[in-house]
Parts: sequence; structure tokens; C-alpha cells
Amino acid sequence: MKAYKAYCFDLDGTVYRGAAAIPEAVAFIHHLQAQGIEPFYVTNNAKYTQLDIQKKLAAMDLVVPEARIMTSSIATAKYIAKHYRGQSVKVLGQQGLQQAIAAEGIPVVTENPDIVAQGLTMNISYEALEDVCYDIQHGAKHIATNGDIKLPKEQGFAPGNGSFVQLVQNVTGVEPLYIGKPAPHMLEIIRDSFGFEKEDMLMIGDNYDTDILVGIAYGIDTVHVDTGVTRQETVKAKSAQPTYYVKTLADWL
Ligand SMILES: [Mg+2]
Repeated sequence: MKAYKAYCFDLDGTVYRGAAAIPEAVAFIHHLQAQGIEPFYVTNNAKYTQLDIQKKLAAMDLVVPEARIMTSSIATAKYIAKHYRGQSVKVLGQQGLQQAIAAEGIPVVTENPDIVAQGLTMNISYEALEDVCYDIQHGAKHIATNGDIKLPKEQGFAPGNGSFVQLVQNVTGVEPLYIGKPAPHMLEIIRDSFGFEKEDMLMIGDNYDTDILVGIAYGIDTVHVDTGVTRQETVKAKSAQPTYYVKTLADWL
């Protein structure tokens, strides 16, 4: 397999499953780091800050600079700062999104926002959803960190951010803008910030509909790992194929 400069790893289902590290992925990352290659981590999860994720990875024996961690919250905040400079934002989201918006110096309001930024919130209330429906009907733009409908948990699937975003869309009739994978914003920020060429970039992930499709849409090489959401046989039946398949990242070493 070809060598790359920017190895972009999805996290859940690729590097870990819930709280448990995937040993073959950890070994692969150690192998890259031993060659002087510091990978990137690209997650749709909007709940956590870079520091939260850095700590979680450290507990799995992965030492990762914060700047290599890209979340859909960071990309959402950077998108708003770039395209809607000076506009006010109502944040429906947890500390990952709140901190990312604050870090860009974006004015945050609780009433009459120019933009509603929506990420997954575990303590979401009917009233909060009702209020953002009114905001959007009164002209606010609707930007969603990510569109994941469901999240795999031990007990089954739990509602993801996309389920709540679609609920709001059903009421307002306004199409939201999605920032997370399969939209290319996170990869674009990495490329812009570090000056990579697309041929130097590789997206590695378990979820065909997000990780593989974002790589294909963005025009970079992709690796599907069979350690998470989408099974390898399902991927093989798709018309648009990843560049590589592996059962685990041990197959690459
Ligand atoms: Mg995943």
C-alpha cells in the first residue's frame, strides 16, 4: 500500500469501541508515530472537546496533540466564523460545541439568533426544541454539527443528532446545513491548516455512509475497517468502493 502524509482516523468503531481500545488500531497508530507520522482524528461526535478526546486516547496509550483532533463541533464553529462573521448563534449542544463556538469569538445569544447551531445534547428538552423551531421560522439559519441518525450502543441503537435535527426540519420546512461527515468540512480544514495535497490524505473508518463516502466525495483515498458499524460484505456490495478494505488495521502492518 502507498504511504500517505495525513492519516485521518475516525474514532468510534475505528480506534475504539465505546470505552475499549481496538488493539490493532492502537498498534497501527504507534507504528505511524514511530515513523514520525502524527495522524489526525476526525469525528462526528460533537459532545466532546479536543481535551476530552485527548484524555480518552491517553488512557488507551495514545499520545495525541490536541491540534490533531478534529470534531464536527470545531468544524461547525470554524465554518460559522468564516462564512457568517459577526452573526449571532444560539447553541443547542454540549460543552464540545459551546467551547468551539466560544473559541472562535462568535457572539452567543439565547434569543433572536441569526444562526441555530445544533449538536447532540443528552439533556435536550421539548422547550429547547420548540424554541429553535420558532427561531428558524423567524429566519435563523439552521446548521447541524452532524446528521448521524442513530448511535450504536451495547443495548442497541440510541438516537443521534440527526434524529433531532430532522425533527426540527420536519417542523420548520427549512433544510439544515450539515457539517460532519459525509460533508467534507473537517477534511477541508485539515488540508487548509496543514497544507496537504489530496493525494497525501487517507481517510480510515468503519462507517461506509460517513467515513468512506466523505473520502470518495472529497477525492482522497479511503480504508474501510471491519471493526464497527458497516460490515465488509455490505461495503463490497456498494457501487462506490473504498480504495482498500481491511478486517483490522493489523492487516496493513
Ligand atoms: Mg466510526
